[in-house]
Amino acid sequence: MQTAINPTTGEVIQTYPDHTPEQVQQIIAQSHECFLKWRRISIPERSAALKKVHAVIMANKAKYGRIISEEMGKTLKEAVTEVEKCASAANYFAENGLKLLADEHIVTEYSKSYVSFQPLGIIFGVMPWNFPFWQVLRFALPSLMAGNVGILKHASNTPACALAIESIFKEAGLPEHAFRSLLIPGSRVEEVISNPKIVAVTLTGSTPAGKSVAALSGKYLKKTVLELGGSDAYLILEDADIDHAIKTIAASRMLNCGQSCVSAKRLIVHESLKERFERGIVEIFSKQTIGNPLDEATNVGPMSRADLRDELHEQVQRSIAAGAKCLLGGKVPEGKGAFYPLTVLSDVKKGTPAYMEEMFGPVAVIIPAKDELDAITIGNDSVFGLGGAVFSKDVARAERIAREWMESGACFVNMMVRSDPRMPFGGIKESGYGRELSAYGMREFVNIKTIIVA
Ligand code: NAP
Repeated sequence: MQTAINPTTGEVIQTYPDHTPEQVQQIIAQSHECFLKWRRISIPERSAALKKVHAVIMANKAKYGRIISEEMGKTLKEAVTEVEKCASAANYFAENGLKLLADEHIVTEYSKSYVSFQPLGIIFGVMPWNFPFWQVLRFALPSLMAGNVGILKHASNTPACALAIESIFKEAGLPEHAFRSLLIPGSRVEEVISNPKIVAVTLTGSTPAGKSVAALSGKYLKKTVLELGGSDAYLILEDADIDHAIKTIAASRMLNCGQSCVSAKRLIVHESLKERFERGIVEIFSKQTIGNPLDEATNVGPMSRADLRDELHEQVQRSIAAGAKCLLGGKVPEGKGAFYPLTVLSDVKKGTPAYMEEMFGPVAVIIPAKDELDAITIGNDSVFGLGGAVFSKDVARAERIAREWMESGACFVNMMVRSDPRMPFGGIKESGYGRELSAYGMREFVNIKTIIVA
């Protein structure tokens, strides 16, 4: 049973019966039949289908935005922006599919030698609730463009999002089984992964979930892409434009109530700027309106589940007990809903939860650094390696640190980390492996086939 609970009120929105094991196998069989036809559709026709996906998403963006806000609590404004981003990604893959999938010719002594990118079959996506449309569409769109079909197992707290996404592809006129949603808990993914018709698995979620699904996929020898947790380091060097850094970092940390894999999580500040930085973040956080995500005045909604809020609070408390200074927030508010205040922890020490673990909520973690080398060392002192950023007025210096020193799948200079369909997205270390988006993402789930003609 999947239960959608409104995190603003704590009330059940709706319950949905799980698919039975027989239904799961039937859906996989139908998807495979669909794949055999879809792969024969020409790339320009697939591209036209994705253009229709764009149109359906844009026509329904207010409706989808509301479903997202109600199920996982982000503000309606942010939810609609997320939906629009999905539409623009549909356009990107529609317009660039031909180029991204074009044969790559290589000069050899043979009359012809080239690499061709052929579809593989059913790609199984295990997805999280935090960007419940974007995370799904960013695997679905390039997969469909490449001639694959998709099956989604969404997070158990966002079943209406799962069904709405399935309906987008139907409304856009794609074959009925080109993209299907399975309503099953995480404990049942082996039923899917073990089916020989499933050719690959992509998971976006926490590192423990990634390890578990990777182990299962290894058992059945299925290719995986893993987009996992992060604890991005933002280095604020002594020559940073401090006002710009404060504004950008506060915005990154508040987005989605802090529940973003590439949120500004560890703020490593040169000690000469620490007090000013602390004051700036506290000032911005204090001005925000926290409340019902459907109200226009609200900047920050509840967290998406009460149990996740309680886990975050426990991490905050353990960090304070280990010596962190709490400059703002840090208390669970009374009343209903999964609310947590915008919180600022400073002087966070190595070995404490706020330093070592991912804080998946609205908590700014400030760690002072003595100099550039100290900042880089602290930045890389993490099991995670997803994104990161460097703030300095000396752009060449910041770029050198970003390019050569930061252990992460992406590093931005003087701006917040965000995904972009034109650029690859993914992590290193315990943030996962493989890439999504761009040509790199599209080529994760194709047969990279060598053709040589004598
Ligand atoms: P989660 O608990 O790991 O859940 C993600 C998905 O995995 C859900 O569909 C969940 O299903 C499933 N799942 C969980 N444990 C599983 C298991 N042992 N076997 C099979 N499936 C399992 O993560 P979350 O709390 O929803 O999302 C937050 C995490 O995702 C954070 O760590 C965040 O950093 C990460 N994230 C990473 C990226 C990225 O691109 N790198 C993007 C967004 C989020 P159920 O709901 O049924 O348990």
